[in-house]
Amino acid sequence: MKLYNTLTKTIEPITPLNEGVLKVFVCGPTIYDYIHIGNAKTYTQSDMLVRYLRYRGFSVTYLMNITDIDDKIIKRSEERSLDFTELTSTYESAFYEDMTALGNRSVSTYAKATDHIKDIIDQVQKLLEKGHAYVIDDGIYFEIATFAGYGKLSGRVDIQEDDAQTRIDESAQKKGWNDFCLWKFSKPGEPVWDAPFGAGRPGWHIEDTAITEHYFGPQYDIHGGAIDLIFPHHEAEITQMESASGKVPFVGHWFHVGFLTVDDKRMGKSLGNFSTVRDVLSKGYSMSAIRMFFMQAHYRKGLNFAWENLDSAQNRINNWHNIAAMRWQANGESDEPSPVLADSIKKLENLLDNDFDTPGALGIIEEAFSALGDTPSTQDTSNLTNLLRAIDEVFGLNILDSTPDISSSAMQLISDRQTARDSKEWQKSDDIRDELKKHGIAVRDVKNGQVWSYASDALDPEYFCA
Ligand code: AMP
Repeated sequence: MKLYNTLTKTIEPITPLNEGVLKVFVCGPTIYDYIHIGNAKTYTQSDMLVRYLRYRGFSVTYLMNITDIDDKIIKRSEERSLDFTELTSTYESAFYEDMTALGNRSVSTYAKATDHIKDIIDQVQKLLEKGHAYVIDDGIYFEIATFAGYGKLSGRVDIQEDDAQTRIDESAQKKGWNDFCLWKFSKPGEPVWDAPFGAGRPGWHIEDTAITEHYFGPQYDIHGGAIDLIFPHHEAEITQMESASGKVPFVGHWFHVGFLTVDDKRMGKSLGNFSTVRDVLSKGYSMSAIRMFFMQAHYRKGLNFAWENLDSAQNRINNWHNIAAMRWQANGESDEPSPVLADSIKKLENLLDNDFDTPGALGIIEEAFSALGDTPSTQDTSNLTNLLRAIDEVFGLNILDSTPDISSSAMQLISDRQTARDSKEWQKSDDIRDELKKHGIAVRDVKNGQVWSYASDALDPEYFCA
């Protein structure tokens, strides 16, 4: 499988450090609030990618950190007069609930910063001993001038508009303007942990490398996040870990997910233009519709958030569920199995193997549905089932879970109608069709039998005639 690598700026094969095994890390949330649907784009597209790596046979350990101590958390808990752990435990649970509601189930281990303070202290200590870090009044900083490779991921050493700027540590005593904080000496009343170099709390970048070193060692295979994290966050991770360990590269393959935008502006908490995952689910959009919505854009590209776009994703997935339900009742044999259906899995894999082309994958599914035709052969329906099984496994759309839930009386009517047609009782057959309509079932005749589906306004006339 090939994936774009931000480090080398090329689409290149994924080459694990250990044959067949992949260690993957994606930056997780800061738990001071509910996640928004923009955060969900990054987590969901990462989930799909990891599912595909597993589908491709890799044994993947997927690690995600949880930032449960930082400036925003301290500020929010002060505003609400809460101990910071009360705040974070609420939003930590909410985050797991939202991940489950989104169908994101591929993370193997979640790791909280406060559970890894010892790892963080050890890494800061090592950087001090090796001369990469220095102490000033408010904390311990990394001296960028000591690391020649700074800028190799992003190709730059300065800040741009979409970077995660609010997190940059300012101090008049810093040696270099972009030196970053490894350890902050706590102010009175702030959370604090003892350390040999002075009591305090971790800086932002160090928690990720301390956590990944704990679980993966100093080098691993794949690191992801959204594009705002390339600089300075991921640049800082490379800088501190390669300086601490002396091992290069820290990470072999970097992937970055494009933003969810609103009117061409990134969706963000600070911009106030966000909808939480809970807002979206409470409006009745299904998990499958949200996943479908994200899949419609290549993971590296931006995607515009508008309710109409979610509506069309919901209609598309409803339609697919209906087609999948209809398929179970198709009968009869066509003359020849469709070559399109026979090839569809191979084509799907080719597209996903080439930088995870999910919009292309959606095209393959549409093509397969069209090729099904009026009289699918047993081979066709089995090829389609295999395709949908693969799609569900990788994308979590649950298309095959839409097994028809139909009453036994409606089922009996469908069977009675077939008997009437076999004995050429056309009026009876039409009457039963009308009766079925009252049960919300649409039925139509095909070459060797009949096909039924749920009668619904959302149904695409190309596939259904009620
Ligand atoms: P935060 O809680 O702000 O640290 O963000 C958690 C994750 O969501 C990080 O990987 C961010 O880069 C990502 N993220 C934030 N905003 C967006 C957005 N509008 N679109 C996609 N990903 C985002």
